[in-house]
Amino acid sequence: MAADTSFADQIAQCVIDSYRALPKRGKPTSKGSGKEEWTVLAGFVIEDTRPETSQRFKCVALGTGLKCLNTGQLRPFGDTVHDSHAEIIARRALLVYLMNQLQQSMTAALCEAPKVFDLQPDSTKYQFGHDGQLLLHLYTSQCPCGDASVESLKTAKDDTDEMPQTKRRRINDGVIRGHQDFDSLGTLRLKPGRADAIPTLAMSCSDKIARWNAVGVQGSLLAQLVHPVYLSSIVVGDLYNWQSIDRAINTRVASALADRKLPDGYTANQCTVEQTTVMFERSQATMKSTKVLSPDEEVVTADASIYWYLGATSSVALVNGQRQGAKIRRNECQTRKLWPEICKLALFHKYRELFPQSQEVSTYRQEKDRAIEYQAVKACLLESPEFGSWIRCPKEYESFDVAGVVQVVAEDSVPAELTDGQHPPPDHSA
Ligand SMILES: [Zn+2]
Repeated sequence: MAADTSFADQIAQCVIDSYRALPKRGKPTSKGSGKEEWTVLAGFVIEDTRPETSQRFKCVALGTGLKCLNTGQLRPFGDTVHDSHAEIIARRALLVYLMNQLQQSMTAALCEAPKVFDLQPDSTKYQFGHDGQLLLHLYTSQCPCGDASVESLKTAKDDTDEMPQTKRRRINDGVIRGHQDFDSLGTLRLKPGRADAIPTLAMSCSDKIARWNAVGVQGSLLAQLVHPVYLSSIVVGDLYNWQSIDRAINTRVASALADRKLPDGYTANQCTVEQTTVMFERSQATMKSTKVLSPDEEVVTADASIYWYLGATSSVALVNGQRQGAKIRRNECQTRKLWPEICKLALFHKYRELFPQSQEVSTYRQEKDRAIEYQAVKACLLESPEFGSWIRCPKEYESFDVAGVVQVVAEDSVPAELTDGQHPPPDHSA
């Protein structure tokens, strides 16, 4: 597929410009002692295709980050962000934006721009995109971790992240930890890429983006109110390999759902894969290529993440999935003002404000399970050979109510095996 460079570059530039306009707090910086931080930037862009539009591309949400909490750092209250990779942070910020837009569509009758969501006369759910006139694109400054990037990493000559192959490669049939076993293509992978790090429960960004191509990016809470929202394209900067990305996020999903009858509105979405030549100044590749490093200087991964969405007063910096500088108590839920707006608990809260009819349901997991069609599509995906080994977040991390009180201490807690990174059983409880 020929890349439309100008189109891809406009999407990338749009996200990078929005990033540059944000304050410094949480952005990668010089750490002293010759250490310069790099990060990944990801963002969602809404394209207004109407000829009369005054602004064709609009960045509506973005995130930066490279970190992910390990199994020992997870909290049961939903008040922190477990996965702080840029694409995941950006997508959570997108959820806040979409919820705000839905709220507007539900309350405001008049709006000069096309509304992001419309209610069709014969439907009970809102539809994104104003009759196909609005398109959603994802930009990421580096190829998503996991399957989409394995071939690029394999051929990268200066891959300093390559880890000793001392630990088990596969932790069960079909899931690989991070960047090991580069020859295995189309395989589910867990974060992080380093084999010597404590394992996480988080699937790679490639796997999560692939799932968005089945169930939509709107998540299960919003799926009760809106039809699925699909990506039109993904625009990638560094470590680009069209074949790998297409296989990871498109082909695997098409193949997994090939013979399945899906509920109305759901499909095996195939998004266009494009490369951008616009460089993000704090990407690893840009910093290595443009900085003249003295022997005692090095480029290191950024500790903090930021998230921002259109309409937010400012960006927010996160460290270890918490607001930067927040002192939180280990065994209790944080007070509401400390919740990142993109954490599960804050989104649950926001959703309840949007949809108060759902008051009788008590936990976050139960609320998600009410999205019958969404869960049916997810089940189809996770029953397939391609995604059958997906590791789902254990129930004990989603059993909090809207106040952050843990309602159920599930018996299926984190498998002991996962704490040393071996043999976690697949969770098919979806
Ligand atoms: Zn990632």
